[in-house]
Amino acid sequence: MSTALPTALELASAIATGSQTASAVLDEHFARIEAHDSEIQAFLSLNKDQAYATAQSVDDTVKAGNASTLPLLAGVPIAIKDNLNVTGTKTTCASKMLESYVSPYDATVITKIKAHQMPIVGKTNLDEFAMGSSCEKSAYHPTYNPWDTACVPGGSSGGSAACVSAGMVTLSLGSDTGGSVRQPASLCGIVGLKPTYGLVSRYGLVAFASSLDQVSPFARTVEDTAAILQVIAGKDAHDMTSSAPSVLPDYVASAQAGALGMQLAGKRLRVGIVDGFEGEGIQAGTQKAVTEAIARFEGLGADVKRISLTGFQEAIAAYYIIATAEASSNLARFDGVRYGLSEREGVENVYDMFAKTRAKGFGAEVKRRILLGSFALSAGYYDAYYGKAQLARKVLAQSFNQAWQDVDVLICPTSPSVAFKLGEKNDDPISMYLSDVATIPANLVGIPALSLPCGFDEATGLPIGLQLMVPAWEEEKLLAIAFAFQEAVGLKNLVPPAFQALKVSV
Ligand code: GLN
Repeated sequence: MSTALPTALELASAIATGSQTASAVLDEHFARIEAHDSEIQAFLSLNKDQAYATAQSVDDTVKAGNASTLPLLAGVPIAIKDNLNVTGTKTTCASKMLESYVSPYDATVITKIKAHQMPIVGKTNLDEFAMGSSCEKSAYHPTYNPWDTACVPGGSSGGSAACVSAGMVTLSLGSDTGGSVRQPASLCGIVGLKPTYGLVSRYGLVAFASSLDQVSPFARTVEDTAAILQVIAGKDAHDMTSSAPSVLPDYVASAQAGALGMQLAGKRLRVGIVDGFEGEGIQAGTQKAVTEAIARFEGLGADVKRISLTGFQEAIAAYYIIATAEASSNLARFDGVRYGLSEREGVENVYDMFAKTRAKGFGAEVKRRILLGSFALSAGYYDAYYGKAQLARKVLAQSFNQAWQDVDVLICPTSPSVAFKLGEKNDDPISMYLSDVATIPANLVGIPALSLPCGFDEATGLPIGLQLMVPAWEEEKLLAIAFAFQEAVGLKNLVPPAFQALKVSV
């Protein structure tokens, strides 16, 4: 099923060739936001003045006959998860703690997006401080899945996924610490890519778990995903964990090289199916779609074999120690002194102010994580929990390294189930945590992973995502394989029927 909505690359070329102005493109996207966002609630704030100023400067460049100087995605509107700093706009992290916090600086990815003259339409909803898998843990409101508004869009980057899915933008940024871009991409029928740890700067991303966080893009096609990666990737002096090749590859060209099919340097592609994604805990519709995806890889000429990765299923336990430990330290800065909320009335002393500010500003899930993390790091428990989790992380990395001797890419479902109903997992944190069983390993070992649509669940009609993982720094290969699969399966640029009506023309 494809739609009449243009892709980001189509919009960019329409703007550069003068068949559409960037301002008109923006008008149409804001019209779609006005028509649909009351139902989806993907946005926390809109940014019209800045967005129109950017569009105008693109139009001026085209009018002056200088279109050839425009960067790749000039004039293409983008939405930003509300845990990334954009100068002069609020960065709330969907928390009461930062309700009135205004960013004094741009995250590096935002500097790059501005340099590419992409209008930033607004900031999107998330689970508070990016902790969650459903976007219901926002302190403001939930976001609804465009395929079925009784269902969640996934999380934590649910707003960024839903606005791309509903055609309110063609591109958005989220952050992925344990699956927060790939899982919502899967639940919303779009593409989400978590790059190699370090390929994209984290400077200006509000930290959750610094050894796992990656700024990650959403799009409706693999080519658009490649294009936005081109914009945001690169080493950054402000982030000492960033490291990228001095000259970035041409990711769009690499993706399209996938048109050559399931070949890698003239050899048959070796695909590994991650063991353990059949039976209990995995929905029947998801199993069926993944089985069909495997057959499609075989049909395209790939060699397919099963791979058992030691520690893959246990990664979730290690993650909830490591991520919460890092979060307990990162979130210590929200104490009423410097950022956002500060409870000063009637407090007895500074410790009382810390306690009252944090009690009022943080929601229940954030408090749960801080408590878990503080406990895991406390004297006497460090070795039993944190030390063991780090060991599990090492074992997992070894088993991936071993797998790469035998296969070029590993595949499995992105999520054990399609989008679930709002409220369904709210009282059961463990079942919510299990949503990320397949996505967490890539964060723990730092490798790139991408989710793209591979089918629909017959029972519910909801989209199903397939996850592809490759060794670190092999984004070019990942995009090429994803593109080949996308073309073969024919599921690209999906927009749910109810959101196709208002057309954005090119
Ligand atoms: N759902 C996972 C969590 O709650 C992952 C979150 C994320 O990637 N930001 O920790």
